[in-house]
Amino acid sequence: MEQRFDAIVIGAGPAGCACGYKLAQAGLQVLVVERGKFAGAKNMWGGAFFGPTLAELIPDFWAEASIERYVASHKLSFLTNEDCLSIEFTTPKFSQLPYNGFTVLRSKFDQWFATKVGQAGAIVATGLQADDLLWKGNQVAGIKAGGDELPASVTIACDGVNSILAQKAGLSGELKPQDVKQGVKEVIALPRETIEQRFNLSGDEGIAWEFIGSCTRGLPGGGFIYTNKDSLSIGIVVQLNALAEKQIKANELLEDFKRHPAIASLLDGGKLVEYSAHLIPVSGINMVPRLYTDGFMVTGDAAALVLGTGLILEGANFAVTSGIAAAETVIRAKQKGDFSARSLACYQELLEQSFVLKDLKTFSKAPHFLENRRIYTTYPELACSLAEKMFISDGKPRKRAWQLFREAKKGKISLWQIARDLMQGKGAI
Ligand SMILES: Cc1cc2nc3c(=O)[nH]c(=O)nc-3n(C[C@H](O)[C@H](O)[C@H](O)COP(=O)(O)OP(=O)(O)OC[C@H]3O[C@@H](n4cnc5c(N)ncnc54)[C@H](O)[C@@H]3O)c2cc1C
Repeated sequence: MEQRFDAIVIGAGPAGCACGYKLAQAGLQVLVVERGKFAGAKNMWGGAFFGPTLAELIPDFWAEASIERYVASHKLSFLTNEDCLSIEFTTPKFSQLPYNGFTVLRSKFDQWFATKVGQAGAIVATGLQADDLLWKGNQVAGIKAGGDELPASVTIACDGVNSILAQKAGLSGELKPQDVKQGVKEVIALPRETIEQRFNLSGDEGIAWEFIGSCTRGLPGGGFIYTNKDSLSIGIVVQLNALAEKQIKANELLEDFKRHPAIASLLDGGKLVEYSAHLIPVSGINMVPRLYTDGFMVTGDAAALVLGTGLILEGANFAVTSGIAAAETVIRAKQKGDFSARSLACYQELLEQSFVLKDLKTFSKAPHFLENRRIYTTYPELACSLAEKMFISDGKPRKRAWQLFREAKKGKISLWQIARDLMQGKGAI
């Protein structure tokens, strides 16, 4: 007799693993299907993991998970072709348990997480792609994968951005280029001591460093560097339609970024060990589809649950929390023996109560605000020009900051325009 699962989870990324783990812990019959040869085989992110979400599921996970470093400081830099102005924030709180954030490499981290899901009692089938949905009338009744039909009371799409299964369930449409950013990333190996010396780190301390300005040649997006144990993750994230419009390839931007005078010396002597590219859904709440239908729910990137405010990009914690919420919904639905849309509506309520939909609503105007090209051109130039005027010693009498600011902005932007941009920013981020 064919096995019928309580739940089939599609994808073993952060959303799928969180969902599968919670369901298995509750004693449900769970199948997690992952198309990669192993969990994390094809996955990438910047990659820092922020917030306490995962600790709610696996307390003290940092003691056993494949963590690279904890994030001891955040740095934001404005770049022009030659210059770099940075703001860095660090506090002893970042070095205390529970840590605020971690750098991780997906190929190791996802494998660890998927192993935990298996240990909790789920079947994790890797190298198996969900190709289609099974239907019983209007209700999703499982999946088709590897030529087999796999029935389940409920199916949860955790298959990442451009979820084919959410499209097949009629919840979302095809991705639009204006709704996604293209991310490209390299992992560059360097000796541990070299990283610690160059980034002023000790022990397991790490840094999450974001860049705005010339690294995207003025296109909406930014650059990043995250320190791992003995490698650096360096990458660029850029609006896909802007790349197409300017006929620029994201990897060209990454090469420029790596050559920047403030960056090149940090990478000196490093060896490229990994290259990857991936899309990120970035249109916020306006892009979030209907989250459930009869016998089916959609989580994480597949549901566009990603927060980008220009200063932060968070998706992993949104994926974990939505995966947990989907699992809690299934557990309640199983108790009622009802997997209809009416019963699964609880998923939406749980997300409304959590930071997931609250944050996306708070920052609903951020995606539009971040299309303003002055953020990536005029303002980094203005900031670097002002810093140069403030810090240069040329033997001439010094001017006050306000005079320097007026000189720096001359010919670049009016005060009126700055005020307008600030007002827009105030309502958006
Ligand atoms: C360049 C870049 C930098 C980023 N930086 C950060 C960061 O620093 N911090 C942060 O929080 N977030 C970051 N993100 C976002 C973060 O990566 C995502 O939000 C997060 O990975 C979403 O998790 P997920 O489980 O929903 O989807 P994914 O991580 O995409 O996982 C989906 C899984 O489903 C599998 N799959 C897909 N289709 C099928 C199928 N049909 N059958 C079986 N398996 C399937 C995939 O192989 C994959 O394992 C970044 C993203 C990018 C691209």
